[in-house]
Amino acid sequence: LIRFDQVTKRFGDNTVLDRLDFSVDSGKHVTLIGPSGSGKTTILRLLMTLATPDEGTIKVGGAYLTHEERGGKLVRAGEKHVREVRKNIGMVFQQFNLFPNMKVLRNITEAPVTVLGLSKDEAEERARELLELVGLREHVDKYPGQLSGGQQQRVAIARALAMRPRVLLLDEVTSALDPELVVGVLDVLRDIARSTDITMLCVTHEMNFARDISDQVLMFDSGRVIESGPPQKIFSDPEQERTREFLGAVL
Ligand code: ATP
Repeated sequence: LIRFDQVTKRFGDNTVLDRLDFSVDSGKHVTLIGPSGSGKTTILRLLMTLATPDEGTIKVGGAYLTHEERGGKLVRAGEKHVREVRKNIGMVFQQFNLFPNMKVLRNITEAPVTVLGLSKDEAEERARELLELVGLREHVDKYPGQLSGGQQQRVAIARALAMRPRVLLLDEVTSALDPELVVGVLDVLRDIARSTDITMLCVTHEMNFARDISDQVLMFDSGRVIESGPPQKIFSDPEQERTREFLGAVL
């Protein structure tokens, strides 16, 4: 469903991703781990087209994300093409990023109505189902500022799912939360991982969560995947010294 092919991303002299290859199959849950600065967030930002690769290509659902094939050649894609491919992808950020001036329900219905063209009724029905899923049904009429960080993050998860993406990107979604609120958010994500066929790509420092939900863990260092495998293998018996060191420091 997702394929990075020789993707390089630089910021000035800093090569953040170095000819990166990796792919994620449909329905799988993949976790990216690795030291700070190793390029994990950059991967999610590339998928959201918040950044573009300097070299290489990214495919989502069989279509190039930032390129189009024209006359047998690959050229930079137009905005319309990019928007179409990106519709497959939803993202939840560390800092929730809810619309502060909209009530919870409207936060969730806004994009389905304006981008997908759903009727207000359809969008609201779907939003209520999603709020049920994230355990916030009774909070539909509140503003984000009236909710705890954990509740806001659960709204953000519902909002991402309301677009019916095939892929959900999760960028350290619990790092900004007080410790006692982390469990509720992770439980919701575990539930979604179990009960839907959505493909998940997460960056997290919550290693127990990664162990629980991942089919595959990719260990990054200096912009490359240095090791990958099922969580049982990576967490208990990693092959690379660098992985062992990293896990020793965070576990
Ligand atoms: P962390 O766990 O700390 O979030 P990460 O593995 O997600 O780290 P990235 O956020 O992808 O790492 O950043 C990788 C490198 O790219 C860092 O050295 C960072 O300073 C640099 N970087 C990221 N975004 C930009 C930008 N917009 N401009 C310049 N440098 C950037």
